[in-house]
Amino acid sequence: MSSVPVAVVTGSNKGIGLAIVRALCKQFPGDVYLTSRDPGRGQAAVAQLQQEGLRPLFHQLDIDDLQSIRALRDFLKEKYGGLNVLVNNAGIAFKVHDTTPFAVQAEVTLKTNFFGTRNVCTELLPLMKPYGRVVNVSSMVSSSALGGCSQELQQKFRSDTITEEELVQLMTKFVEDTKKSVHEKEGWPNTAYGVSKIGVTVLSRIQARLLNEERKGDHILLNACCPGWVRTDMAGPKATKSPDEGAETPVYLALLPSSADAPHGQFVSNKTVRPW
Ligand code: NAP
Repeated sequence: MSSVPVAVVTGSNKGIGLAIVRALCKQFPGDVYLTSRDPGRGQAAVAQLQQEGLRPLFHQLDIDDLQSIRALRDFLKEKYGGLNVLVNNAGIAFKVHDTTPFAVQAEVTLKTNFFGTRNVCTELLPLMKPYGRVVNVSSMVSSSALGGCSQELQQKFRSDTITEEELVQLMTKFVEDTKKSVHEKEGWPNTAYGVSKIGVTVLSRIQARLLNEERKGDHILLNACCPGWVRTDMAGPKATKSPDEGAETPVYLALLPSSADAPHGQFVSNKTVRPW
């Protein structure tokens, strides 16, 4: 078994994920895994970074596929005996003018952004080594979508005692409510991406709390963040930040020094803790 530290970035064949891998290859003292659901796209991205003189490693990972997540889990357990840095970056967004029915957009978006991310956490968080760092890439849109929720939902999503099961029930209810076209009446905002990212931010708050309760003394720090508005296939060419600039906050959180005991369980943008 290797004693080399290891970092994994989900959805890192392009965009912000690729830029996070680039920065970690330069700054993280260990093996950095670029992962992609499509091995061809993943290997092409590895080759691109090799051209830049960097040495990322590759592993397949489709966060929609539990078998794929478990194969990565088993690989990490066997080769490294755990994991030091996990960046949950993989995500999807329908374009604003996409005419796919809203209920389908809700189901597909929640499947990857919330349920897929949660499945990765369920399988990989138990592998986190002491002083591990977990970064869940959410979005400022989670904050604005929270503001668009009914007072009752806002209270639940801001609660310091909400459980993962309750959050899963709420995310499932959103998808069901869109199918019955009652989501607005039920207090939801009209954004599937926004609700999926509320899920990611609240999940991070819950997971940080569980780490405090169950692994106190292991000094693991887990946070949600917004990378900013970044020029990628998702956000388009008008966005203000380059992918490398978008990687800065996630990488800052991934490389918090072992002496740090904060931020933890926070929503961070531009390296600054934001109110939730
Ligand atoms: P992007 O260029 O579209 O890249 C998304 C990445 O996620 C791609 O590598 C994609 O792989 C991967 N992915 C999607 N579904 C996946 C799955 N089921 N399993 C594994 N990988 C999957 O988007 P981006 O702008 O870099 O976004 C990265 C993250 O930042 C997302 O979580 C996004 O919500 C968040 N974010 C972005 C912005 C922005 O302005 N760009 C702002 C706030 C938050 P494929 O190539 O196979 O599709």
